[in-house]
Amino acid sequence: MAAMGFTGTRRRAGVAHRWGAVLCLATAACTPAPAEWYDPSLPHHQPNGFVNVPPTPEKKLSDLLRWRREAGKKLIPEAGDYTFPTIPVDRAALNHAPDTPTVTWIGHATVLIRVNGVNVLTDPQFSARAAPVQWAGPRRAVPPVPGLTDLPPIHAVVLSHDHYDSLDVGTVRALRARPGGADTVFFTPLGYKPWFARLGVTRVVERDWWQSAEHLGLTFTAVPVQHWCKRGFFDRDERLWSGWTISGEGFNGVFLGDSGYTAHFAEIGRRLGPFDVAMIPIGAYEPRWFMRDHHINPAEAVRAHADLRAKRSIAIHWGTFVLTDEPLTEPPVRLAVARQQAGLTEADFAVLVHGETVAITP
Ligand code: ZN
Repeated sequence: MAAMGFTGTRRRAGVAHRWGAVLCLATAACTPAPAEWYDPSLPHHQPNGFVNVPPTPEKKLSDLLRWRREAGKKLIPEAGDYTFPTIPVDRAALNHAPDTPTVTWIGHATVLIRVNGVNVLTDPQFSARAAPVQWAGPRRAVPPVPGLTDLPPIHAVVLSHDHYDSLDVGTVRALRARPGGADTVFFTPLGYKPWFARLGVTRVVERDWWQSAEHLGLTFTAVPVQHWCKRGFFDRDERLWSGWTISGEGFNGVFLGDSGYTAHFAEIGRRLGPFDVAMIPIGAYEPRWFMRDHHINPAEAVRAHADLRAKRSIAIHWGTFVLTDEPLTEPPVRLAVARQQAGLTEADFAVLVHGETVAITP
């Protein structure tokens, strides 16, 4: 495996600071030492966590209860109520590196990008549920296509944030257990090394917003988005969230992960665009009063496409897990309306069938 170029990594205290926090609560009046990566000159840094720029208010418990109460009065279909078509797995195609870069939508925010002989997965989620346990929580409406066993060797994974629909422990373990899986490099925003280390995964490259790393001829750059992080009770925003640009000879792509509408999109377009392909979330947006800060809707996705200076976009983060109040089938319908209003064609901002592959010609 070719050498990786790492620049400017800052590691954080992780477990040590969490125990420090417990100790401080016990003894009152002290504050835990700042994390190792902490840079007070950066507006998104806090001594032990991160904030959006500009900051977005943290939802109150009363807001969460209101959302759940109002959702309880709506008829929201469950995962099992849907049937989505899928593209049959083409093992022959998966066994050969394509001549032109390709993008395959596997489901939700999981995309297989194949460029110049390198295979990259985004936010890999192949489990039956997007949850801390596999016996409760949002169930998958469609199996991942292609499945884990169908995948070609995965040289790199880019991770956007730590929510269960993007970062899945079972999937990370399964990727690692595949032949050659120990060589997979995980590109993450700041703060993930301790989580991966607990799974025995050490090939983790953390990057702050606008920092890059090289791997196998591709450049991976973490870019700012507007979101948040939380997996447990006491880790709110301790890890950073980001999108990623992936660029190499003849290819420039951007993966937004999960984000509210933000001026960062235009800045990404200005600094790193134009893009041959943008992978933009279109689902998990209702009700707006609760979701707006951290999840774009299809109309905002179309604005993001323009802001990023994307030549074409592909819809992600929809049609797989019931996470919010809109039906799983609604985002493409609303995207079609927004696309038409913006004078874009279906090819300009495509909605793929689960498992569909498109070639990205420069
Ligand atoms: Zn999220």
